[in-house]
Amino acid sequence: MHLGDIEVRHIHGGIFRLDGGSMFGVVPKTLWEKKMAADDRNRIPLAANSLLLRTGGKNILVETGNGTKWDAKLRNIYGFAEGDPYADSLERAGLKPQEIDVVINTHLHFDHAGGNTRLANRKVVPTFPNAKYVVQRAELEHAMRPTERDRASYYAHDFTAISDAGQWQLADGDCEIVPGVSVVKIPGHNLQIQGVQITGGGKKLMMVADLIPTRHHLPLPWIIAYDLYPLTTLETKRKWIGEFVRDGWIVAFGHDPDFPAGTLHDHDGKVAFEPVDLNS
Ligand SMILES: [Zn+2]
Repeated sequence: MHLGDIEVRHIHGGIFRLDGGSMFGVVPKTLWEKKMAADDRNRIPLAANSLLLRTGGKNILVETGNGTKWDAKLRNIYGFAEGDPYADSLERAGLKPQEIDVVINTHLHFDHAGGNTRLANRKVVPTFPNAKYVVQRAELEHAMRPTERDRASYYAHDFTAISDAGQWQLADGDCEIVPGVSVVKIPGHNLQIQGVQITGGGKKLMMVADLIPTRHHLPLPWIIAYDLYPLTTLETKRKWIGEFVRDGWIVAFGHDPDFPAGTLHDHDGKVAFEPVDLNS
């Protein structure tokens, strides 16, 4: 779809699986399993949703999915598909990795930045050789020294090769990346996570990543257990969901396996969701 001069497309980074309890925090399984069925290992299917933006002659990717640098054991644990669903989706959009000018990572967890790099002749190299990679400076610093609580979400091979190649464009707080595309901090999941806002033609869209990973996380207390600051998530959600409803934003979810994007509406005090097909 178009927001003014900006073309927005959903890039499907493939399905993977995480523990259902971890994805719904304090919500009992008896409630969440009615929304998302768990498999025999208590895992629920999640998509690695990414966006391709084309504007002013530039090709911009938001998120790079899980990537392909996985051994058999981790592939089994997370249920990653064989092959490279992200590259396939990009190819269907008519683009090659070397044609990407900007990559924006909301944060550096493996399910958002895993495709930043790839293996070539047993060496880890940037997947997008001509791109500037945008992340918050404080997120890169945190990723290099994570805590015991979140270190399983970071793999240095997703970001050190970007540092070595000098391809970072580090952000300090909210800022515009190209006209109509901005990053804005949405703290809670961690302190440095950023959403990506696209505005044009009187329309607004925001990739909210793990702030609202699926449409089932729209109720305020449905907050993922991975979050380092769940009460901050609560307030960030309250602020943004209110604004999304009021101003008719399109919301792109980081991990919804069925509907990557939609609009939100007030329905007798509850937030109702209406899908939007970004690729139409
Ligand atoms: Zn995530």
